[in-house]
Amino acid sequence: MVKPKIYVTRKLPSERAMKLLFEYCDVDLNEESRPPTKEELIEHVKDKDGLLCLLTDKIDKDVLDAAPKLKVISTYSVGYDHIDVEEATKRGIYVTYTPGVLTDAVADHTWALLLAVARRLVEADQCVRQGCWKIAWAPDFMLGTDVYGKTLGIIGLGRIGTAVARRAKGFNMRILYYDKERKLDVEKELGVEFRSLDEVLKESDFVVISVVLTKETYHMIGERELRLMKPTAYLINIARGAIVDTNALVKALEEGWIAGAALDVFEEEPLPKDHPLTKFKNVILTPHIASATTETRARMADLAVDNLLSVLKGEMPKHLVNPEVTKIRPLSEVKMIE
Ligand code: NAP
Repeated sequence: MVKPKIYVTRKLPSERAMKLLFEYCDVDLNEESRPPTKEELIEHVKDKDGLLCLLTDKIDKDVLDAAPKLKVISTYSVGYDHIDVEEATKRGIYVTYTPGVLTDAVADHTWALLLAVARRLVEADQCVRQGCWKIAWAPDFMLGTDVYGKTLGIIGLGRIGTAVARRAKGFNMRILYYDKERKLDVEKELGVEFRSLDEVLKESDFVVISVVLTKETYHMIGERELRLMKPTAYLINIARGAIVDTNALVKALEEGWIAGAALDVFEEEPLPKDHPLTKFKNVILTPHIASATTETRARMADLAVDNLLSVLKGEMPKHLVNPEVTKIRPLSEVKMIE
């Protein structure tokens, strides 16, 4: 059997994963540390059976049209809003992703953001380094806000939202959530309370966005929603930038509708250095690193490669985005590895 040809859009941080790829496949690897351009992507997928991509690679109709032999797209991420799954499915292309293995790292980062914005950690660190710490201790110096015992609102109580809620129990928080459907098992386990989106926004001291980005959730948090939040409340977004209307958020911060924000994701990434969001002291910005731990990124790499190889071996991958594809092209027809 000839080895399947695959395009890997970035080197992955797992020796095991890279070794497996080269063992079973004829690998075309983008050796650069930047994502391929759209033209490069189109050029490289032309003769490929498989594609291992990142969330920065937009796999749209043009890319799919350029890849008539493509059987599997394995993304090194849990989000798959960068892939036109509907078009892929029509063409009998299996789309796989990496849920679960990054949940705890992302929930930890969410909490790092929440605590940092509430207790002004970044500002405080800068103050010490820049010499603004002049008086040893003062009753009203650098006051933040309490976290313990407050109300947490979670928008999207999926894997990550639930892991965030689990951590909130240790902070004795009242936990509200909004989701497109009630999660009775989590309600029972963690005592979280279901509310409408508006109620979550109105009642919470911290609002965490952990919902998936879809056509329905695009700009789900706009001017109307931000105006519903308490002026003392904080918004934390670790999901996808486009769930929040950035212009509305900037206005909310300028006009004090909310107390601050902590963001790991943005509508425009990388966020330009002079973006309006960078001028607020009460905003914490991290460069889309919520899953960025050595252990987690290695687990993601292993899973992304296992998913890709499973499909090419004609086996059901652990995490398939589009199970309906099996009716269009059964696994036996995409099998290339014995
Ligand atoms: P998940 O388990 O699928 O959770 C998403 C939740 O959103 C689910 O409970 C889902 O409900 C709910 N939902 C879907 N559509 C909705 C709608 N229209 N209105 C309200 N709720 C809706 O995914 P996850 O693993 O927790 O990840 C969530 C997202 O986080 C990913 O999609 C990704 O974009 C983002 N993420 C970001 C980073 C980062 O580096 N910053 C890392 C990992 C993930 P159902 O279960 O009923 O569909």
